[in-house]
Amino acid sequence: MTVQYEGPRTKAVEQPDAADHQSGRTEPDRLEEKRVWQEVKEKRRIRTEAARLRRRRRMLAAVAGGAAVALAVGFFFGLRALWYAAPDPLGGPDISQIRCPDWIEQDFITNPTARTGAPLAEVKDLAIHYVGNPGSSAKGNRNYFNTEGVDVCSHFVVGLEGEIIQCLPLDEQSVATNQRNKDTISIEVCHPDETGRFSDVTYRSLIRLISWLCRQFDLTQENLIRHYDVSGKLCPLYYVQHEDAWQKLKEDAGKALEAEE
Ligand SMILES: [Zn+2]
Repeated sequence: MTVQYEGPRTKAVEQPDAADHQSGRTEPDRLEEKRVWQEVKEKRRIRTEAARLRRRRRMLAAVAGGAAVALAVGFFFGLRALWYAAPDPLGGPDISQIRCPDWIEQDFITNPTARTGAPLAEVKDLAIHYVGNPGSSAKGNRNYFNTEGVDVCSHFVVGLEGEIIQCLPLDEQSVATNQRNKDTISIEVCHPDETGRFSDVTYRSLIRLISWLCRQFDLTQENLIRHYDVSGKLCPLYYVQHEDAWQKLKEDAGKALEAEE
């Protein structure tokens, strides 16, 4: 952009006679004035050119930066896609292909501290938990997992009405069962009171879920574990304190599995 200089010098150069009459300037004066004006114009041209080059360099740097970021992001997602597409080295079921039945409500959480996105490549056992908050609902517990800063989450919550909510995709690790997060599906179960005993409707729903999961992952009732069996935590409380009730739960799961085969 060039700004036209309209000051007195230009006027003087363009109207030499009028200027001469007023100032009485001589020919050498006019030449000197013209030279100075040429110099000013040249300096301005150089400045403008330098500014244009600087803008161009900034633009190129921005484009290069954007391209680098796009490349890095593309590379990351490419690797991630490859990781998930890789066949299971143990030859087990492809977890990402399992479709949940309509009696399970999928309501995945998005809270990044609880849903880490770590892939679950194989499922060796199903881990049973109790929520430890008497009277709380499946939805309430799911929403708790989705609360900012909370860093626990199970795959499923079985509610007081027998409803089942899935909080995580099956091919992602939960944060519920300590060192066994890496190879278990976790199920939290709601309970009406402090004893931690599951109500009949909740129990039936839990057995149905366990049976369905066993079929998906080629497991049996022997692959049912309690949180207690992993870390010693009193969870699920009632079924730690009543070993017979735990054995009965495993038996009932085995019967349901047989009945459906
Ligand atoms: Zn637990």
